[in-house]
Amino acid sequence: MKTFYLAVTYDVCAHNQLFEDMNRYALDLSINLDEQIREFAKQDIAPVVRLFTSDNQDFENLKFIKEYTFIEYECNCQE
Ligand SMILES: [Zn+2]
Repeated sequence: MKTFYLAVTYDVCAHNQLFEDMNRYALDLSINLDEQIREFAKQDIAPVVRLFTSDNQDFENLKFIKEYTFIEYECNCQE
């Protein structure tokens, strides 16, 4: 059975209790996964990206694999 990989970027603000999903990206398994995830984080300025797998390309029944955090993209807003 083929496995599909999906990355989801999240917008996070601790001050506003915000944890909102932004975009979903299908990953290309021929390229380094960590590199792709770093690029998606940069593109969306996302402090959190979660990696999921699915057994179908419609990305149903997602299975959580791993969370990546990028402190350089955390919001700097003040109370
Ligand atoms: Zn904030």
